[in-house]
Amino acid sequence: MVGDLPGIGWYACAIVVRTLVLNASNEPLSVVAARRAIVLLYRERADLDARSNRVWHAESASFAVPSVVRLRRYVPVPYKRSIPISRRAIFLRDDHRCQYCGRRAENIDHVIPKVQGGEHIWENVVASCQRCNSRKGGRTPLQAGLTLIRTPVRPGRFDWVYVAAGGYADGTWQPFIGSQLTVHS
Ligand SMILES: [Zn+2]
Repeated sequence: MVGDLPGIGWYACAIVVRTLVLNASNEPLSVVAARRAIVLLYRERADLDARSNRVWHAESASFAVPSVVRLRRYVPVPYKRSIPISRRAIFLRDDHRCQYCGRRAENIDHVIPKVQGGEHIWENVVASCQRCNSRKGGRTPLQAGLTLIRTPVRPGRFDWVYVAAGGYADGTWQPFIGSQLTVHS
């Protein structure tokens, strides 16, 4: 895809950084490999909004890697993107910490256990360590004498960006996302 871009091929090999793509309306649209964002800029489909602090040096020029680009034409989005409940997404939301004791999480726990009618929804799932998970068993936190560090919530409207980026997010993304997830940059 980048083969026809003079001088870009060298970068394409090196760039593994992710770029946030904004719709023309300023809303996050997708997360792409930086090399794809460079192609969008080069073909004048998008404008640069923010650079990351990563710079690549080629023989004749230095090159700031784009961290946010904005499409020139609005792309209609037919549905609101939501985050499916997955282990990875729950761990991201809960910062990989057990929501009962704060230790490193290893399991997913249903706060109200399924055997007691608990649902598999964002508000009822938390990351937990093996110890708390075993101790709790099929009981509620109250029954097991455990307390949640914080109330589990549904991720924010644009938090899918972090999940799509594998937990990585450049600081320059923050104004466009307004996230409650922890940013790892
Ligand atoms: Zn624990």
